[in-house]
Amino acid sequence: MLLHPGKTDFAHLDAESQKIMQDTIAFFEKKGKIKLTEDDRNLVWYADFLEFVKQEKIFARLMTPAGYGPENSRWDTSRIAAFTEVLGFYGLCYWYTYQVSSLGLGPIFMSDNEAAKQKAAALLNDGHIFAFGLSEKEHGADIYSSDMVVTATGDGKYTASGRKYYIGNGNKAGMVSVFGRMADGSGYVFFAVDSQHPDYKLIKNVVNSQSYVSEFELVNYPLTQADILHTGEAAWDAALNTVNINKYNLGWGSIGICSHAFYEAINHAANRNLYGKFVTDFPHIRDLFIKAYTRLTAMKLFALRATDYMRTASADDRRYLLYNPMVKMKVTTEGEHVINAIWDVVAAKGFEKDMYFNMAAKDIRALPKLEGTVHVNMALIIKFMPNYFFNAGEFAEIPAYHKPVNDAFLFKQGPTKGLSKIRFHDYSKAYDSVNLPNVSLFKEQIALFKEALMMAGPDAAQQKDIDFLLTIGELFTLIVYGQLILENAAIYNIGDDMTDQIFEVMVADFSRFALELHNKPSSSAAQMGYAFKMIRKPVADKNRTERIWKEVYALNGVYEMRK
Ligand SMILES: Cc1cc2nc3c(=O)[nH]c(=O)nc-3n(C[C@H](O)[C@H](O)[C@H](O)COP(=O)(O)OP(=O)(O)OC[C@H]3O[C@@H](n4cnc5c(N)ncnc54)[C@H](O)[C@@H]3O)c2cc1C
Repeated sequence: MLLHPGKTDFAHLDAESQKIMQDTIAFFEKKGKIKLTEDDRNLVWYADFLEFVKQEKIFARLMTPAGYGPENSRWDTSRIAAFTEVLGFYGLCYWYTYQVSSLGLGPIFMSDNEAAKQKAAALLNDGHIFAFGLSEKEHGADIYSSDMVVTATGDGKYTASGRKYYIGNGNKAGMVSVFGRMADGSGYVFFAVDSQHPDYKLIKNVVNSQSYVSEFELVNYPLTQADILHTGEAAWDAALNTVNINKYNLGWGSIGICSHAFYEAINHAANRNLYGKFVTDFPHIRDLFIKAYTRLTAMKLFALRATDYMRTASADDRRYLLYNPMVKMKVTTEGEHVINAIWDVVAAKGFEKDMYFNMAAKDIRALPKLEGTVHVNMALIIKFMPNYFFNAGEFAEIPAYHKPVNDAFLFKQGPTKGLSKIRFHDYSKAYDSVNLPNVSLFKEQIALFKEALMMAGPDAAQQKDIDFLLTIGELFTLIVYGQLILENAAIYNIGDDMTDQIFEVMVADFSRFALELHNKPSSSAAQMGYAFKMIRKPVADKNRTERIWKEVYALNGVYEMRK
């Protein structure tokens, strides 16, 4: 399942998209690891990458929805997933400039403002980048509050004043989509500004990075109706719906980072001899590698399956709103586990300045914190729990979906309300489709969790206690995670060994969170009893693990970035 720059053929994509991936890989391989890591160290703005993107019209082709810009343009989540994985593989800063451009374009292409859409398509075609101005210094995750104020001055004209903070590409963006509120109290507003306008004051880069994550201020910035993208509830919806689309890319960035780091680690460990033994001969090193490889495979299986639900979503099927936040928060936190495990293998080597790993170790931490923190996303998905367990709906089976078509629904997702009404297909179908020792154990854990929700669910105080709910959310997340992994294990024919290996990790993780639930200060005797019963020892199988190890060890020497 791992991306291999020389071998992955992207056969699930059309020829044009395959070429985009291959050209991008060729750009980075030509750049080479020495320059890649040097630019990271010296915080060099990635003008070379943006020039390549401009020449090849890569952002234009990937980020212009059908109907605008070049003839073949379309918003195709399958190829965006592949592209963001490739970018993560070579460095988070390259991923980030794509990501914040994509975020910036969200409110534009979701609006009815045809002139703004045509302008964005033309700028994309000319190689411009974009920015998404939602966050503010004083308000962080509290996006209800905004000190960016738009004042009507008559004749369809306005001025905007206020500051934004943590805004990527804010130094160069051709259009910055800015979220604020109307001075007359009539509600929220999304509008577009030009980062090169004299009334757009670039204050500073607030981070220590190749990326420019800006603080900027608008000082009576003049706007006309042509710059207004959304007003009132539509502005709020555009903010959330834009994040809905893009938070998905965070998981793919993480998968790319982990894959590259993995190759470096196995190359190093398998060829380093200590006390007459290769490092890969130590049993604990094998265990770390197997766990990292298993988690990485699971991350990819889940994220790929989430693509299918995202691309086939409609007003009547909004299941993607559960799976997407999980690509964001579960896949990216799993990425941290992968890097932690690998770092314990490579040890001091991970600090060396010409290793990709040195970038990976730092960058992997960013992804759980962007586009709403893990906590915010967890608080969001808990709303889905009652319907997921107790009110399953009937849906036609969703196949693997890689068609080269425009994902039109993503730009007309509609109102963001009514999350607790969304229904899901019965999770037990996936769990009952296999008969493997660790999946069976996991099913016992699920049954106990569901019973605990019915018999000893959170009381009124616990329902207000986000700390308590986060642990419940972790357990719930694992169940949904396992469901989509099983669905995709069948589609991708992953085999019993890997499936059971994944669930060996899942049973242990579920047990860890069950223990956490048991130890919560407010857990009742009944809750503690259930939590205790949920703890299970995974089924170890020496032969299976040995076979997986062979698969892992076979990656030794398979890929090394060109120096
Ligand atoms: C490198 C970088 C790039 C960024 N790029 C952009 C960008 O281009 N555009 C943009 O608009 N923003 C951007 N951001 C902002 C980013 O999305 C915010 O950092 C994020 O939304 C959280 O805000 P905060 O970090 O200020 O956390 P805070 O708001 O200070 O939150 C503090 C803590 O409280 C918790 N918390 C807050 N509210 C809740 C809640 N409702 N439920 C549960 N827990 C909660 C959080 O999880 C966190 O642990 C960027 C940030 C960084 C670091």
